[in-house]
Amino acid sequence: MKTKRIFDADGDVFSFDSVVVDCVPVKNGYALALEQTAFFPGGGGQSPDEGTVNGESVREVFEKQGMIWHVTPSPYPAGTSVHGEVDARLRFRRMQQHSGEHVLSGIAHSEYGCENVGFHMGENYVTVDFDRPLTAEQIADIEKKANEAVYANAAIRCVFPSAEELAAMSYRSKLELTENVRIVIIEGYDACACCAPHVRRTGEIGLIKVLSFMNYKGGVRLTVKSGGDALADYAAKCVQTSELIALLCAKEEKIVETVHNLQEETGRLRFALGQEQRSRVAAMVAAIKPTAGNAVLFCDGLSADSLRFAVNEGVAKVGGLFAAFTPAENGYRYCMGSASVNLSDYAKTLHAALGGRGGGKPNMIQGSVAADQKSIEDFVMKNG
Ligand SMILES: [Zn+2]
Repeated sequence: MKTKRIFDADGDVFSFDSVVVDCVPVKNGYALALEQTAFFPGGGGQSPDEGTVNGESVREVFEKQGMIWHVTPSPYPAGTSVHGEVDARLRFRRMQQHSGEHVLSGIAHSEYGCENVGFHMGENYVTVDFDRPLTAEQIADIEKKANEAVYANAAIRCVFPSAEELAAMSYRSKLELTENVRIVIIEGYDACACCAPHVRRTGEIGLIKVLSFMNYKGGVRLTVKSGGDALADYAAKCVQTSELIALLCAKEEKIVETVHNLQEETGRLRFALGQEQRSRVAAMVAAIKPTAGNAVLFCDGLSADSLRFAVNEGVAKVGGLFAAFTPAENGYRYCMGSASVNLSDYAKTLHAALGGRGGGKPNMIQGSVAADQKSIEDFVMKNG
């Protein structure tokens, strides 16, 4: 015996009466096999439905050899009449995504000869993989035509053709099977083998929006949202855009240009700051007397580049090591150089004594220490 699949013929039935044909205990409750059901057990990239049976939350829905099982907290012996309610909002949302994908793939196929070689339906978006590369213009064209198919409000129906009818039929996702193949037909746009429930007309899909695309395995992967999810995404993006407009004090159409200008300005300022730091550091290093031992320099606000610059300038003035420190969140960041001391070894003692970390090469190391200026000076001037 097989469960009658109400969703095969009509994806819009969410409430149904049925009779339990079998009930077995399972680890998370009792699995009920029903005579008929509107619960889609999952497949074709779409997750199983959620909902209730006799008011009890269905914990799992699965299919085994044509029987559809519903896991409930309580047992319902064979012969019991039950009432099922599928979570209609969730199912409709998934159908919008799935039917939207069929329209998009159908148009990519008819307009550009693309085969759909991958389909993933996540909770928040859908990805579709085509077997050939597409340009941004081609993808925009497919998206435009997919939305025109929505405006046309074409009928969507599911059929089980005979073996002969199937052989004569041209459809996507061709299967080896010759019978019991369910074909989802979108009048005038697409025919595709698929086991999942779909909306009744393309108008119910609402907006079909390609959010992004990337080259993938010699073809292209599209990230797509349809229906209510696409609208929610648009709404979230409008909020973000408004915040950006306020933050940047720019008109909407000038946002990108404004950010670009800000980046250029930041680059110029960073360069000027670097130059200023270098001359400050160079003057400080020049004031240090040459020594056979070690020398330490402390300076506020130095970048990693400026710390290295200080060490490169200072190392020729010392017989031991030259160290530059700048205050950081929990102590100091440092850079050290030497022509005579193996700093890779030195780093271990330094880090152990001053609670530091970092590394580098025998002639230059950089990192951070969690200690005050006095402790650092005492350590560096006495060791090396
Ligand atoms: Zn499908």
